[in-house]
Amino acid sequence: MQEVVARVHKRLREPRKLYIGGRFVDARSGRLFDVINPATGERLAQVHEAGPEDVDAAVAAARGAFRDTAWRRMHPSARERLLLQVADGLDEWRKEIGAVECLNNGKTLREGVGDVQPAADIFRYYAGWARHVQGETIPVDGDDFVYTLREPVGVCGQIVPWNYPLLMAAWKIAPAIACGNTVVLKPSEWTPLTALMLAEVCKQAGVPDGVVNVVPGFGEVAGAALAAHMDVDKVAFTGSVETARKLVHASADSNLKKLSLELGGKSPLVVLPDADIEDTVRAAFWGIFGNKGEVCSASSRLLAHREVRPRLVEALADMANDMKVGDPLDPDSRMGAIVSQAQFDKVLRYIEAGKREGARVAAGGERITDGDLARGFFVRPTVFDDVTPDMSIAREEIFGPVLSVLEFEDDEGAVRLANDTTYGLVAGVFTRDIQRAHRLARDLEAGVVWINRWNGFDSAAPFGGYKHSGWGREMGQHALEHYTQTKCVWVAL
Ligand code: NAD
Repeated sequence: MQEVVARVHKRLREPRKLYIGGRFVDARSGRLFDVINPATGERLAQVHEAGPEDVDAAVAAARGAFRDTAWRRMHPSARERLLLQVADGLDEWRKEIGAVECLNNGKTLREGVGDVQPAADIFRYYAGWARHVQGETIPVDGDDFVYTLREPVGVCGQIVPWNYPLLMAAWKIAPAIACGNTVVLKPSEWTPLTALMLAEVCKQAGVPDGVVNVVPGFGEVAGAALAAHMDVDKVAFTGSVETARKLVHASADSNLKKLSLELGGKSPLVVLPDADIEDTVRAAFWGIFGNKGEVCSASSRLLAHREVRPRLVEALADMANDMKVGDPLDPDSRMGAIVSQAQFDKVLRYIEAGKREGARVAAGGERITDGDLARGFFVRPTVFDDVTPDMSIAREEIFGPVLSVLEFEDDEGAVRLANDTTYGLVAGVFTRDIQRAHRLARDLEAGVVWINRWNGFDSAAPFGGYKHSGWGREMGQHALEHYTQTKCVWVAL
């Protein structure tokens, strides 16, 4: 892998460009921005910064491609092949993309490389759908033949965050192009590099010019320009509730573009007294400390029955204390660096708030300042016990490696506690009692419920949230709802 990392560094010496209309181009303003390696705090690369005029050009390219019959009328089997070729391209470049993700996001190399397979899989999954986006025939009163067509929505603006930069881009682009739309994707300003690599893969795979465009830039500038654009038909967004509110306003104030929103979570993992403790601890641990806790579906609230809480906390604290946090490139590291200075400061602020509000630090609770790690944004995996529902660490999304443990006495109390949040992304139940598990699954207010497991993901299974966690579902057949619109055709017979 060392060779791959060296190769990647060499590539990144050249400023990365925007991808518009099938070409890698400079930003019209000539402005560049720095992308930081969070493990060292040093500059990793420079990237051309898209401004509103670049967004205009990308939208124009996407509109042109959308109107072009080469794309509109492309045979479904050809579109299927195209998506399969993108998936193959991702596989071929797995190590390079994984290394860039690791250097840019701070996740471990294992995690970075591990993100590429599901990204390729989602292109394979929607390749299958390219031949199945179909309408229906409808019996009506009278002498008419009535049928529906499922047509693409048009130009889709797609705005993604920094925690899974490649995977989030793939979740968005694959269903959009499978249905015949065109795309302008804006990656996070902190992690724009792998979305640009995905653009290269699309180009090599033969995706027609203008069908996929990538405009790295800042949220308030490039993101806002995309959200307010009069010629963007839809925006698909993954990110914070705060930004989502701005997108809703931008849509209302522009062309009422359609919106799908994948937002945050403060997800409860409920442990009943009869749960298999070993399995539960493993799932809860990786649910909050995998990818540094920078996961929308992190198991950030562990709701433990009174009888099992002490055992769970002890086991989780032991694992946290043993976890190797370190250089993301080191194959022995199990947790890397927090993505940015701003996110690092936010995580540390919440840790201080937890201490101030009276929670007990069972593990971690500080930044790491040992040796070289002092240069980067490293935090010890932190377990807070004795957390009460009013504390900020029980209510607000931290998006970092901080676990809050709360206690309940009976199933009713567990459900009340679990649903006592504005979010509703995912939830989990650990128990051997199948009846109780299903009852809780019914009562939990969340878009996904996991029973005796955490973080189950599959390209075919819908994902998304209740309440403030979003609008709509990604993945599976459900995502086709976002990327098609229904036309009803009446024929008098
Ligand atoms: P964010 O909302 O700050 O940024 C997300 C994206 O929006 C970035 O590309 C950013 O540049 C852009 N943006 C920011 N301001 C904008 C504006 N005014 N107009 C248009 N675009 C703008 O979120 P983040 O900090 O990057 O990501 C973390 C959040 O994402 C967390 O809340 C997390 O839970 C959520 N998330 C959700 C899922 C999911 O599938 N539900 C997945 C990953 C992350």
